[in-house]
Amino acid sequence: MKLSHIEHIGIAVTNLEDAINFYEKVFGLTCYKIEEIADQKVRTAFFMVGQTKFELLQSTDPEGPIGKFIKKKGPGIHHIAFSVEKIEEQLMHAADMGITLIDCKPRKGAEGLDIAFLHPKTTYGVLIELCENKKM
Ligand code: ZN
Repeated sequence: MKLSHIEHIGIAVTNLEDAINFYEKVFGLTCYKIEEIADQKVRTAFFMVGQTKFELLQSTDPEGPIGKFIKKKGPGIHHIAFSVEKIEEQLMHAADMGITLIDCKPRKGAEGLDIAFLHPKTTYGVLIELCENKKM
């Protein structure tokens, strides 16, 4: 698989506004967008740290993926997203390597990216998101 860069790091939080305040106050970052992704039952807030995006995720439903994650592990790092080209091919390649795919086909994620998750049980405990910006 060929990765170009870390597209973003996803952090699960219990209160989006509190967390935004924290990152703005302590680290001097500026939240440039808040987006709700109904499909994933989350509200997300975005920051840029140099060229890497930082994504805060608050669940809109206790039974959503972030809600369940927080119930089990508490707030913290949720996933790391790698930027790739030809995401469909990368997914096939991952499956060939014995990695369990959460998404067999890419779907639309935040900021219009095509995204797909790899199961952490087969990636040394890290939830990995592949994403491709097809608009570029
Ligand atoms: Zn993400």
